[in-house]
Amino acid sequence: MKKYLMIHDENLCIGCQGCSIACRSENAVPSGLYRLQVHTKMSGSFPKLKMDFLRHSCVMCQDAPCVDVCPTGASFKTADGVTLLDNKICVSCKYCILACPYDARFVLPDGNIGKCTFCYETRLAKGEDPACVSVCPTDALIFGDANDEKSAVSKYLNAKKDGIYYPKEELKTYPRLAMVANKKGGYNE
Ligand code: SF4
Ligand code: SF4
Ligand code: SF4
Repeated sequence: MKKYLMIHDENLCIGCQGCSIACRSENAVPSGLYRLQVHTKMSGSFPKLKMDFLRHSCVMCQDAPCVDVCPTGASFKTADGVTLLDNKICVSCKYCILACPYDARFVLPDGNIGKCTFCYETRLAKGEDPACVSVCPTDALIFGDANDEKSAVSKYLNAKKDGIYYPKEELKTYPRLAMVANKKGGYNE
């Protein structure tokens, strides 16, 4: 069984938002709403400035609070680790939005609930990478099957000895989106 995992290497990210634009185009995300954004965080003072680019999207929790609270089973995990939503049985109660510690869900204009899906049905089903991964100009996004030791994600994780972290790890949601902390910037010179 596959175990899909995504990595965002903050050392390689340049904050171009190409991933966010590709997501919007692929998934017809309405104006003003986002499945994925890359936030800029500035710290320090001149000349020791640091700029971090931080991905904000569903982190595909293995133990997903959104799934736990859903009263109809509309929110569910796939066997290969992606959190999805079946709008046909969703009653728009919004419990999942309140339960998500990553602020990853939102209400669409038609009342349905939106979130990142790793492009599960539109691209993964065809053997393609998620849209964000496919356009990243610096290869800051890596995606694949963590159960396959020859996959790009497995090789990446094995090669990086430090700096890997999982968002809000203390919550024990076990995200399937790993980050590599940015080491560039004034504090590290
Ligand atoms: S496309 Fe790549 S480099 Fe650009 S913001 Fe997204 S992750 Fe960062
Ligand atoms: S990040 Fe939020 S929406 Fe995504 S799986 Fe976790 S709890 Fe659910
Ligand atoms: S809004 Fe839909 S997916 Fe979210 S908890 Fe309610 S029924 Fe489940």
